Amino acid sequence: MAKMYDIIIIGAGPGGLAAGLYAGRAKMNTLIIEKAKDGGQIAITDEIENYPGSMLEGESGPSLMERFSKQADKFGCDKVYDNVVSVDLQGEIKTVNCSKETYQAKAIIISTGASPTKIGCPGEAELTGKGVSYCATCDAGFFEDFEVYVMGGGDAAVEEAMYLTKFARKVTIIHRRDELRAAKSIQEKAFANPKIDFMWNTVITELTGDGILDHMVVKDTKTGETKDIYADEDDGMFGVFVFIGYKPVSQVFEGTGLELDERGYIPTDDQMRTNIPGVYAAGDIRVKELRQVVTAAADGAIAAWQAAKYVESL
Ligand code: NAP
Repeated sequence: MAKMYDIIIIGAGPGGLAAGLYAGRAKMNTLIIEKAKDGGQIAITDEIENYPGSMLEGESGPSLMERFSKQADKFGCDKVYDNVVSVDLQGEIKTVNCSKETYQAKAIIISTGASPTKIGCPGEAELTGKGVSYCATCDAGFFEDFEVYVMGGGDAAVEEAMYLTKFARKVTIIHRRDELRAAKSIQEKAFANPKIDFMWNTVITELTGDGILDHMVVKDTKTGETKDIYADEDDGMFGVFVFIGYKPVSQVFEGTGLELDERGYIPTDDQMRTNIPGVYAAGDIRVKELRQVVTAAADGAIAAWQAAKYVESL
């Protein structure tokens, strides 16, 4: 028989872990289901300087998320590491089918976040982990004294490019326009960094290499002209880090009656309520403008508080 909870939280990023803390403190019998590793995207981000209070010596995304996780545990949330394969969100008892087990609850908080957008060019999939990466904190160490390219022009691309300069000999930001999207304060730091170069109005159209990335084709977005870039002969390889935005992780909710917008994000009201009674969403998976740890945590707190009120009303 499926194990029954008051609240199930799907996803242990900042939104899910904050929801766990609040649900636990509200004495709700709570389960957090995480498919991989606690912390979500922020657990693969090195610098975290804009979460209020996170000014501790050596603070990083992983260290902050470790404390979030411990705090949810402290208030008694159960946690399982499993992959959600289908859900039934209708009715008073909601069912979450995972690869290993099935769980049920009176309320569900969805905080599944978003995953990195791929370039979608030939060679990208084959060379992922062999020169192509979506996580500077995870892979920067492999490029000590090599050349790396960062694709994207937003906060993530520019911040991660700066982090990569601690390892790589040279970092070139490849951006499809001639102006960065990143916050002005982040841009200023990058422009002042002597190890960072820019390749404007450019996209990557092909990545190649025999087991390791050593060549790519880039295209001028204005003229359509293409150019080959080869690894330095002595290096024999280079790195490409891709930061061109994120896609919501909501595929499992398609066709369940849960409303999704045209891009797959979940619309909620300001109390994190979705279109289904007893189903809430928190964090980057929501339709919203500012996707940050602080906004995800706030969403999680509100969602848990509302979910607890809903469970008590049944
Ligand atoms: P983003 O702000 O959406 O930026 C994505 C970048 O990739 C943009 O420069 C975009 O170009 C480019 N891009 C998108 N699709 C592309 C494609 N197919 N080919 C080439 N380039 C493409 O994403 P993000 O930087 O990952 O940030 C996501 C959210 O997290 C934002 O709200 C951001 O503020 C937040 N964030 C904050 C921090 C921080 O505050 N410390 C750090 C990281 C992320 P265009 O500019 O031309 O659209």
